[in-house]
Amino acid sequence: MNKNSLNHLDYYRLPWNLTDNSISWLEPTSKCNLVCEGCYRLNEKNGHKTIDQIKDDLDVFVKLRNADGVSIAGGDPLTHPDIIEIVKEVKKRNMKPIINTNGLALTKELLKELKKAGVFGFTFHIDSKQGRPKWKDKNELELNELRYQYAKMLYDEGNISCAFNSTVYEDTLQYVPGMVKWAQENIDKIHVMVFILYRAVNNKGYDFYLGPKKIDMSQLVYNEDPATRADIKANEVVELLRKDYPDFDPCAYLNGSEKPDSFKWLLTGRMATKKKVYGYMGKKAMEAIQMFNHLFRNKYLAYAEPKWARRGKTMLLMASFDKKLRRVFFKFYKNPLNLFRRLYYQSVMIIQPVDFMQDGRQNMCDGCPDITVWNGQLVWSCRMEEQLNFGHNLKTYPKGFLN
Ligand code: SF4
Repeated sequence: MNKNSLNHLDYYRLPWNLTDNSISWLEPTSKCNLVCEGCYRLNEKNGHKTIDQIKDDLDVFVKLRNADGVSIAGGDPLTHPDIIEIVKEVKKRNMKPIINTNGLALTKELLKELKKAGVFGFTFHIDSKQGRPKWKDKNELELNELRYQYAKMLYDEGNISCAFNSTVYEDTLQYVPGMVKWAQENIDKIHVMVFILYRAVNNKGYDFYLGPKKIDMSQLVYNEDPATRADIKANEVVELLRKDYPDFDPCAYLNGSEKPDSFKWLLTGRMATKKKVYGYMGKKAMEAIQMFNHLFRNKYLAYAEPKWARRGKTMLLMASFDKKLRRVFFKFYKNPLNLFRRLYYQSVMIIQPVDFMQDGRQNMCDGCPDITVWNGQLVWSCRMEEQLNFGHNLKTYPKGFLN
């Protein structure tokens, strides 16, 4: 067996499910100030929901789904004129407001106001396919300079969780190790790196049906660009990362709804200083963190407070029952000077969205955290264009199967 092939049973299956999850996904707007390749939502000028509609969506979450945090997404949520109130409404309902933004509209003044309103964290989506003014033609590594500006802004404001999202394409896959390295060099400011593997509607191989009616999918925004791979797997990214970090090893995952051994969310927790990676969190420690949070806070953990990411040494207490942390413990304290150094925790998440299986089934993330609300119901956010255009999720069959 290839030493890089991962067996899902070696890792902790995150306990997230439809009614009890770490996160929920709120879309207050479909308006955006950028036009990114690979975006799953149609950018609408008048796409803002009213504050009453947003409160209704939040109330649906409260009624149907226990969650630690709410990703306030879009569109770009910072284009919404009521963003401060939206953050307050999330907080009022005892959930952590996390803003998913491209960052373009974020100023220091707005950040201060958002913090006062209760914002818990930001996930900045920055990648080279966004056509950003002033950053056109920059590759993923050159964009680290822009990422740093946002990380520093949050760091200076203090106590705000900082995550970065990038969509990974065939031609940008090569940059993932460099981005992971950069994140380590800034581990005091960056808490989470997320890599979302590019996916698109597969018109070439499949027909789409609503009941007995065949649907033309070409109007949807996320149609496949035949020149680009839309099937990069999480395992491939791990394999690539292991060339630079031979010990790189995940601790937890979400499987596919149709294919149990596929990794749809693959979480790695690394223990490092800015200069050296000492090792990785194991499955037992991640299980303890999720269980502890659920036992004592009644929530599965989404984003940890930044102060916890700085307490890697406290996390080493779990070395008594987690063998990977035990290795970190011995490696770290081999150098007595490390008694006086800080050890950080940082998450690296790889997300592998919808995959089409040979028989036409769509392999979704089992226990999807990014569930949103449409018409008072919980739906997958990655397939909401189907709800908006056709009122339902579509079924897929191999091309010509039903003709
Ligand atoms: S199922 Fe879709 S919305 Fe849910 S986590 Fe996976 S890609 Fe995201």
